[in-house]
Amino acid sequence: MYGLMMDYPLTLAQILEHAYRIHADKQVTTLLPNGTLHRYDYATLYGRVKRLANALTELGIQRGDRIATYAANTYQHLELYYAIPCLGAVLHPLNVRLSPTQLAQIVHEAEDKLVFVDSAYIAQFQALRDQIDSISTVYFGLKSEDTDICYEQLLSDAKPTYTWDIRDENSALGLCYTSGTDGEPRGVLYTHRSMFLHTLAANQADVFGLTEADVVLPMVPMFHAMAWGLPYVSMFAGADIVLPGAKPTSIADLIADTGVTVAAGVPTVWAAVYPELRKRKADISKLRRVIVGGEAMPRSLIEAYEKELGVEICHAWGMTEMSPTGTLSKLRAGHQNLSDTEKWRIKAKQGRPIPGVELRLVTETADDFKVLPWDGETIGELQVRSPWTANRYYKIEPTPEHFTTDGWLRTGDIATIDREGYVQIVDRAKSLIRSGGESISSIALETALLKHPYVQEAAVVGVPNEQWGERPVAVVALTPVGAVSNRTDADISDPLKQYLALEFPKFWIPDRFVFVDKIPKTGVGKSDKQTLRKRLLSAETKEKLP
Ligand code: ADP
Repeated sequence: MYGLMMDYPLTLAQILEHAYRIHADKQVTTLLPNGTLHRYDYATLYGRVKRLANALTELGIQRGDRIATYAANTYQHLELYYAIPCLGAVLHPLNVRLSPTQLAQIVHEAEDKLVFVDSAYIAQFQALRDQIDSISTVYFGLKSEDTDICYEQLLSDAKPTYTWDIRDENSALGLCYTSGTDGEPRGVLYTHRSMFLHTLAANQADVFGLTEADVVLPMVPMFHAMAWGLPYVSMFAGADIVLPGAKPTSIADLIADTGVTVAAGVPTVWAAVYPELRKRKADISKLRRVIVGGEAMPRSLIEAYEKELGVEICHAWGMTEMSPTGTLSKLRAGHQNLSDTEKWRIKAKQGRPIPGVELRLVTETADDFKVLPWDGETIGELQVRSPWTANRYYKIEPTPEHFTTDGWLRTGDIATIDREGYVQIVDRAKSLIRSGGESISSIALETALLKHPYVQEAAVVGVPNEQWGERPVAVVALTPVGAVSNRTDADISDPLKQYLALEFPKFWIPDRFVFVDKIPKTGVGKSDKQTLRKRLLSAETKEKLP
């Protein structure tokens, strides 16, 4: 027997219409390249989105067409985030930090019809453009050649009214490629339904918990896992939005000047901005919460933010494949009486599945499959399913490497889950170091190293070893305290080894320490272990990285 309820399609158009009708005066602020702030309200955004939809239709864009963006977090990008899917086309944000060759492959695979290019990136876009000359280009700034189209001209020439006509909630909304941390980027194709449900779930009180009184700063780029859904979550909640543009000179100034209450980004951003925020403690008093994910947030940094700045850290785990939110670490009511150290230990875990996300921990060999207990100790592969998780990659046949036959996504993450449902990511399967048949967690070693006063940044990678299979090597960027000039490498690595020996078994201690000025980062700010591993291998016995 069917129920007797409306068959109401869950589409992005509902989110946009709600934002406009209920929160028309809410503000979108963008930091422009010249350092000034551009502001307008949701009503203005809405009018421009409708013009944009007409303009795209005039350009011949049809349902299902993929349209790329090569852009920073700006109001124009936000307009595209709505206009493209609401007219039935597919938004495809390109990661501007990937190489032109990698991007050209992605654009060809996606068969993008148009690419919208940010003024801030026009120069760097040329290298990509040379490789994808068959598609048209729209520039946010002035047009640079006769054949190019100027964004503002397009809008002012377009009709102001447009009626959304998306009936099928399962039609594609956006295409986002994974950031390629441990392999080639793969395309994830979201639907209106999946994004609508993710928007509702991600804004539960115990998840992002945004209200219309918030001012939200997505530092996470709009090409990284749909900016974690924040462009949609924020506007459905009616919050003001602050967009940092291509190169904010000071994130602390932006937070202070615009009264940001909730910000979101990868740990690298919050590690870099911490000293600045400390200096401006008085002016960032409105900042109440920072959502952090994409990589493990070190416990020491969580402690620094909560204790020194009074800012709550919400440590989240997710994947591009999951729209992306999977878990979020918040204390339970029963944790309030724990000691601070105990609280930060819990918060440094990746957290509990958000409502709607199912997790399981498994161990699997060719002839054995076991679901493992949630005891906080047993380590297994994390598998997931939810209404906002991909069931295959774009243009790739589903393989058992990524999807199980009973409908779960293999996350590639190795984890424990405790009795209360808190997930702790031990490592990525591909980063887990196998030494003498035993596993060594690179994340655990990095987290410990980051607590040492000598260590600014740390990445531990496995390198092949004849006797043991693999051995860990620690690549470390030093703090000013560690880098005093008269110390030799051994003066630094010996105490670091002794320090790690207090916490870990002997075979976990890295054989080598290599010192660098900075750990290389991927396009979305994660430690680039693929590059580190390659450099370590090519440097072979040399102790310095090339
Ligand atoms: P890529 O796999 O190319 O990096 P994503 O940006 O989608 O693409 O990254 C998802 C992966 O990032 C997860 O599978 C996990 O390994 C890692 N990750 C995300 N959040 C966290 C976190 N809070 N702690 C540890 N790892 C995380």
